[in-house]
Amino acid sequence: MIKVLVSGAAGRMGREVVKAVVGDAETQLVGAVDKHLIGQDAGQVAGVDAQNVLIADNLAQALRASGAEVAVDFSTPQAVRANIQTMLDAGVAPVVGTTGLKQDDLDAIEQASRTAGIPVFIAPNFAIGAVLMMRFAAECAKLFDTAEIIEYHHDKKLDAPSGTAFKTAQVMRAARAGDFEHIGGDTESEGSAAPHSRGGDMGGIAIHSVRLPGYLAHQEVIFGMAGQTLSIRHDTITRECYMPGVLRAIKAVRGLQGLTYGLENIL
Ligand code: NAP
Repeated sequence: MIKVLVSGAAGRMGREVVKAVVGDAETQLVGAVDKHLIGQDAGQVAGVDAQNVLIADNLAQALRASGAEVAVDFSTPQAVRANIQTMLDAGVAPVVGTTGLKQDDLDAIEQASRTAGIPVFIAPNFAIGAVLMMRFAAECAKLFDTAEIIEYHHDKKLDAPSGTAFKTAQVMRAARAGDFEHIGGDTESEGSAAPHSRGGDMGGIAIHSVRLPGYLAHQEVIFGMAGQTLSIRHDTITRECYMPGVLRAIKAVRGLQGLTYGLENIL
């Protein structure tokens, strides 16, 4: 049994992770941390039987007291960097789904992981369909010179662009070993009626972030060339879709080294 602590256990994703860890024969819930619902049973908060694991507010203490071997973090973009460091300091392997981490953060985490001698697993998207979307987008990136990404998320999402859009743009640029052709129509200049309406630019790819109630998580990658477009789209229907990937990472992380970024590395 792998002993697992869940950080962000009272959140939307954290509750799903608690449920998944409790329901899997190879994992055991031993700790739960959040900033609210402190003192409540993490299992009951997640809608399953009481687990005798109360939500605590101090991560370092909870890691020590629980004897966790793996800590899963679905907290906030503001908290995740410090949480990962606290997990490494405690000798516990982090599995991280929290988004908002930039390349500088990933470089620093890789360094911290190697210094501590504890592996770290981060995936901006734990859904298999999203991983395949990125793989197909990388393939198309070799043959199309222009592309844009539109990502759609619920209104509570704190970061933009999404971690998935950020990673998709990264793999698309890596696949063609360079930037895409920038399409004009900039709205950044003074006097534009709606500044930035051409989206954020990552290596010539315009990324548009829609935030509206009603959406969960969706992304469309559109490639264009004279006379044709090609769209690749992934839609998330429920948060359950992430759990097979999260469980796989929990079981794999301690056999990895340094920072592993992306679910595709353990499929
Ligand atoms: P959420 O419902 O807001 O849950 C986050 C929880 O973390 C909240 O209960 C929050 O408490 C708590 N928290 C705040 N600071 C904390 C700290 N220092 N330590 C521990 N917990 C802390 O958000 P969500 O929808 O579950 O999403 C969580 C993250 O996962 C987001 O970054 C989201 O983009 C990401 N995500 C990733 C994937 C993936 O596949 N990788 C999929 C979906 C979502 P307060 O409300 O008091 O701040």
